[in-house]
Amino acid sequence: MSSESRVRAVSSSNGAATGPHNIFSPSNATLAQVLTWAEAELMALGLTTPQLDAEVLLAHSLGINRAGLYARFHTVLSLPQIATFQQILSRRLQHEPVQYITGIQEFWSLEFAVDSRVLIPRPETELLVETALRFLSQIPNPHQSQPPTRILDIGTGSGCIAIALATELPAAEIWATDISANALAVATANAQQHSVHQRIHFLQGSLFTPVTHQGHLFALIVSNPPYITRSDLLTLQPEVRDWEPRHALDGGEDGLDFYRQFLNEAPEYLATNGWLVLEIGDGQEAVLMSMLKEHTGFANGFCVPDYAGVGRVVAAQKN
Ligand code: GLN
Repeated sequence: MSSESRVRAVSSSNGAATGPHNIFSPSNATLAQVLTWAEAELMALGLTTPQLDAEVLLAHSLGINRAGLYARFHTVLSLPQIATFQQILSRRLQHEPVQYITGIQEFWSLEFAVDSRVLIPRPETELLVETALRFLSQIPNPHQSQPPTRILDIGTGSGCIAIALATELPAAEIWATDISANALAVATANAQQHSVHQRIHFLQGSLFTPVTHQGHLFALIVSNPPYITRSDLLTLQPEVRDWEPRHALDGGEDGLDFYRQFLNEAPEYLATNGWLVLEIGDGQEAVLMSMLKEHTGFANGFCVPDYAGVGRVVAAQKN
């Protein structure tokens, strides 16, 4: 087999070999030509950011950063380099999220390892971290003789919220739970990577079950729970619907299953004047605010809009 047909064989074994694959000739292709070809493939699939995706994936494939691509536009890529990139691109052509392919997502200016065991951290969730930090700055800084500020993160996934809080709050001790042992393995590795693993206890189980018998009261309870309605699950983009963990997204028939159970149990675990801070979905502000208002266990409820003006984070204080 010639080296050129070997590269073709790679592309035709990936199940996405129709269309532009067949007219692409990899011998003597420059980096710029490979990029243009990859972008056309991604665009043909209807992806929204074909140029960005092509650049990120080619840079990842070559082990360089995106700026490095621009300096090498006229470099001719070797056939093995192109074959490796075609394999990587074929994953994206099956709608696998870029972050699962590169294995990285930035959150709160920290790098998190991600794969299909965990939800990819979203920029909106940084608003939850920001809101939580505002409350904690109102709580007097614990002296060494006092117990550390205790925080609980339910459904920690990649660990992004718990780890961001731990890096900002050196005196905090954090409990982070998830229903998925696989997710906790990712979160634990991320905590080690950021050297905060000694202050985060990762525990497996649903909602408050893992901390039920620990006897702790928390100054802050945070969660970015599953909140997508059953019917919306079907209309999500394939990157989310077919690749991200279903249990991290599925909020039940009306998307509110988690909040109902959570709000009933949370007061029991909050310290006096403790705060809860929760992410909510687009359009859930009114119902969440009325749930908080009706609940006798909470006071001072409010909602913080994200940069798109969508109510994104609700907070309330233990009554
Ligand atoms: N806490 C994680 C995040 O915010 C995971 C949330 C989830 O899996 N629903 O990304």
